[in-house]
Amino acid sequence: MVKDTKYYDILGTKNPEGAEQFKQISQAYEVLSDEGKRKIYDQGGEEALQGGGGGGGEGFHNPFDMFDMFFGGGGRRGRGGERRVKPTVHQMRVPMTSLYTGTTKKLKISRTVKCKICEGRGGAEGAAKECKTCDGRGVVIRTVRMGPMVQQMQSHCPSCEGEGSVIPEKDICKGCRGKKMVKDEEIIEIHIKPGTKDGEKISFEEKGDEVIGISKAGDVIIVIDEIEHQTFTRMGDNLCVIHEISVADALCGFVRVIQTLDNRPIYYRVLPGEVIAHGSKKVIHGEGMPMHRHPSDKGDLIIEFKVDFPSKLSPDVCRKIADLLPGKSEEIIDDEADEVELTALDPNASRRQRGMHGGHEDGHPGQQNVQCQQF
Ligand SMILES: [Zn+2]
Ligand SMILES: [Zn+2]
Repeated sequence: MVKDTKYYDILGTKNPEGAEQFKQISQAYEVLSDEGKRKIYDQGGEEALQGGGGGGGEGFHNPFDMFDMFFGGGGRRGRGGERRVKPTVHQMRVPMTSLYTGTTKKLKISRTVKCKICEGRGGAEGAAKECKTCDGRGVVIRTVRMGPMVQQMQSHCPSCEGEGSVIPEKDICKGCRGKKMVKDEEIIEIHIKPGTKDGEKISFEEKGDEVIGISKAGDVIIVIDEIEHQTFTRMGDNLCVIHEISVADALCGFVRVIQTLDNRPIYYRVLPGEVIAHGSKKVIHGEGMPMHRHPSDKGDLIIEFKVDFPSKLSPDVCRKIADLLPGKSEEIIDDEADEVELTALDPNASRRQRGMHGGHEDGHPGQQNVQCQQF
């Protein structure tokens, strides 16, 4: 199969001329920016796409978006088409307890804003004069000779730093020293509602950087980063907790106190006779996280039980328990049966066995947990 690379070649051309080439670029962009279409193109070329595999009918993207993306053009465009300043994003670590109760945090943000004294001009009104070095173009052309070759190179004008105009020394703004922009600091209050989730974004419109030539300042976006709790784990609106209980508790009932995330003591009771199995789960309704939209409503608290079996028991205790518990087994053994030894499973030994069967050695003996389903 001959590889079709036309679209890639087209995008390698950075100086498009003529409508036809422009249309082709749009088409190439549309295909290469869509993972599905790109795959089809990579495998079967342009023909495969025309064979209906492309999904078609969507029309081309805005060609200006396309140029922004490929050639690093101007700022981001909002829905109305106006240029927008990139938002400033802050991560904010918040303990789960604060997300439960809700809280207000203060954050000092620093941003770049237009100088208020000169209104972003860098000097007095009308003080800017056309740069004589570049005649106001902002760029200068240099001719570089290298042996027989003559090359023209365009670079930023060093006199006006590409601005095209200069402000005479005496008219330069004292507030920003002619830089047009100044640093500004502000303290914002972030109201975190009960039930706010990890990764949730809180936006502050136009509290971010200002850019000359763009009327609206950027936004500040606070991203909530939940700090895990020692006891509770969160699953959406529900909370989960693991309760370790003894065999005696599992078999004979118990009472357990829970300190909620807002520090209320609550307790539940398992009655004698209601046996709790290892790994089983129970739920307490309405003791989960507050629901974001209706903080008075809460999710559920799910309790998972881990039964802490004793590692050894004395024969005396065993006899007593066996007498009390139902289901003590009595196996009938055939005379011909051979007795074999049951020993503790050694993870290293099992790893070696697996190695013989083509498994790979990772050089960390004892770190793997041996699980029956791996065999
Ligand atoms: Zn100024
Ligand atoms: Zn200049």
